[in-house]
Order: sequence, then C-alpha cells, then structure tokens
Amino acid sequence: MTNRLIGDARPTYLYDIGVDQSVAQSIVTGALKDLGWPLRVRVETSKRRTKRRHGTYFHRTRTILLYPIGMNVGTVIHELSHVWGHGHGKVFKDAHRKLLKMWE
Ligand SMILES: [Zn+2]
Repeated sequence: MTNRLIGDARPTYLYDIGVDQSVAQSIVTGALKDLGWPLRVRVETSKRRTKRRHGTYFHRTRTILLYPIGMNVGTVIHELSHVWGHGHGKVFKDAHRKLLKMWE
C-alpha cells in the first residue's frame, strides 16, 4: 500500500472507489465549481499500464491524465490538488486536505 501512495498528502479510502472518465470529470468540474475556481480542468485517460504512476497533472493545458491503476476518486483528488501546488509541498497539501474534506 505504501508504494502506491508515494507523493500523497495522506492515505484515504477514496483510492478504493473506482471511477470512469465521465465520473472523474464530474468530480473535477463539481469541486472547482464548489470552490469558485473559474477555470476548467479536463480529465483524460490513458490505457498505458503503469506500475507506480497513477496520474499526472499538466499545468499548461490544465489536464488531468489518469492511468488504469489511477481510475479512482483518491487519484482524481490528488491530481486536482496539483492545480494549486506543483510539487507535494505545503500549498499542495493544503489543497489536498481541503478537497478531501469535501468527500470524507
Ligand atoms: Zn502528485
């Protein structure tokens, strides 16, 4: 379990709740709306099998890319937190905590 959570602000059961692309997109759009964030973030999926990487956030295009092992709510929230923080520092962690509170 530790390996798959590398880079996370903290573990959460939300990693066990599966999503497809449209559910992931609804989570992202809904959370941004609730937070009053004016920008749109797109969700895309990749079929590429990865061992450790669950998702990526591309700042330039504001796109979250989810890999097959990252098709879950926890990864969506993790990647969405990168809208505010590039690395896994304080800004990221604060955003992550705030987003998790909307769910847990
Ligand atoms: Zn990350």
